[in-house]
Amino acid sequence: MKVDAAVIGSGASGSVMAYELARRGHSVAVVEQGRREDPQTFEHDELSMFARTYKQSGLQSSEDRNLAVIQGATVGGSTVINNAIWIRPELDRVLPSWKAAGAPVDRASLEAAYFELEGALRVSPVPMKVANRGTEVFLRGCTNLGVKGELLKNNRHECIGCGWCNYGCRYNRKTSMLVTYIPWAEARGVEFLDRCDDANVLTRDGRATGVEATRDGQRVSIEADRVVLCAGAVGSSAVLLRSGIDVDGRVGRGLHVLGGAFVTGETHEVIDGYDGIGLTCISRTDDYVIESYFAPPVAFSLRLGGFFMSHFDRASRYRHFVDAGVMVGTEPTGRVRLDRKGNARIDMKLSKRDLARLRRGIDRLARIFFAAGAVKVYPASFKFIEFVHPEQLGEIESMIRHPDDITLGSAHPQGGNLMSEDPARGVVDPRFRVHGYENLFVADPSVWPRNIWANCQATAMAMSHYAAGFVAAEDGDG
Ligand SMILES: Cc1cc2nc3c(=O)[nH]c(=O)nc-3n(C[C@H](O)[C@H](O)[C@H](O)COP(=O)(O)OP(=O)(O)OC[C@H]3O[C@@H](n4cnc5c(N)ncnc54)[C@H](O)[C@@H]3O)c2cc1C
Ligand code: SF4
Repeated sequence: MKVDAAVIGSGASGSVMAYELARRGHSVAVVEQGRREDPQTFEHDELSMFARTYKQSGLQSSEDRNLAVIQGATVGGSTVINNAIWIRPELDRVLPSWKAAGAPVDRASLEAAYFELEGALRVSPVPMKVANRGTEVFLRGCTNLGVKGELLKNNRHECIGCGWCNYGCRYNRKTSMLVTYIPWAEARGVEFLDRCDDANVLTRDGRATGVEATRDGQRVSIEADRVVLCAGAVGSSAVLLRSGIDVDGRVGRGLHVLGGAFVTGETHEVIDGYDGIGLTCISRTDDYVIESYFAPPVAFSLRLGGFFMSHFDRASRYRHFVDAGVMVGTEPTGRVRLDRKGNARIDMKLSKRDLARLRRGIDRLARIFFAAGAVKVYPASFKFIEFVHPEQLGEIESMIRHPDDITLGSAHPQGGNLMSEDPARGVVDPRFRVHGYENLFVADPSVWPRNIWANCQATAMAMSHYAAGFVAAEDGDG
């Protein structure tokens, strides 16, 4: 196959990239590791859907197992299994931090991209009538405590509130890439190749010449004028490293996450939080982001804490729970590397500062739940931690001292192929081009030099939309 552009990865960034290049008249092929799923076959069965749609069946984690790193592996990427929450980050905070790291991004172009995507994906406020009942409890707690809490926006249309978004929407009410940009790109001639293993970028004399992969045991070879990596943070670094491209040892370095821990509140009243949209509200400070959430029973019980009977006793109160996550934007100290077999490994530890911020967020969230009337609050911890009164919250400091004292996770990895105009510091330049290569680009969250402190899909798509201008331009001028 010979195309103008080969894109690796079909998630938030890859699908938008493919569509935007096709819209400009380029022939495009997308190489995707995951399988193409038919939404009508999505089941309300967590174990089956983890295996079908999640990277490593949902078990990807840091090397020391302290941090679960959750990503999608299916055509449409993480957008197929995400919570459809749409957040523009605080650009007044993010863009200066990127510029200071040598990564200037044109604000007007980025804002225009958000705007266009919001129209295309029907972004609107989460509809209260299908939000889970924990939403009211969370907002009540914020009001009673005197802190700001608000309803989020989402990319759903006529959602019926079944609460199964993290396992794919079988009703096509979530405007994921699978049902929007992918068919729109296909209508413009883009070819999506699913089930492609071992994707490799081929290079010669400082130019990418194409992509090779294995599909159904056969070698697939794509000759391309441009190659764009959109395999996500972790994935894109791994592909570069497997292709022998390490940009003076900088590929894979500077990984960071927006991640943290869940905190559960138990109430007297029956909430039935599983019934309705799970992720609905936000309350944030410069130190942490709190988002109200609920999950079906398997995912919920994984972080509920307790062992054997103590876990059973807690889980039997499932109808009485409110739940939320506390997340912090970590410092860019993590790393993606390859083991001897060529598999990606994630070295990532929360710093003392990250952990201190997380503790403050857990304290705040526990107070929100108590203010809403919760009778017990438990952070997702290995030790059996249970608070019954806000006065006990001072103990958080001594109870959560190390990252392995709590169950940490992130669905928002970023960094690894940092953008910098200085070829001695970055992997890509501000035009998303890999330093030292004329026509090889990375256009996903792996290029973000500092954390965006917000859920990532909107910015993954908007940055890819912005990057497409540079990729399409022969001379890289956008
Ligand atoms: C459970 C969950 C819930 C989330 N909820 C939200 C939310 O509500 N709001 C929000 O803003 N964000 C959310 N996110 C995060 C958001 O979906 C991601 O930040 C965003 O999709 C990232 O886009 P991406 O293109 O970088 O990666 P992805 O969308 O993950 O796509 C990357 C694709 O590349 C493929 N790939 C990886 N390696 C290779 C390879 N070697 N060869 C070929 N293909 C490869 C993967 O299979 C995948 O399909 C959530 C994520 C998860 C996992
Ligand atoms: S809650 Fe709405 S968007 Fe999510 S899976 Fe159910 S119908 Fe689809």
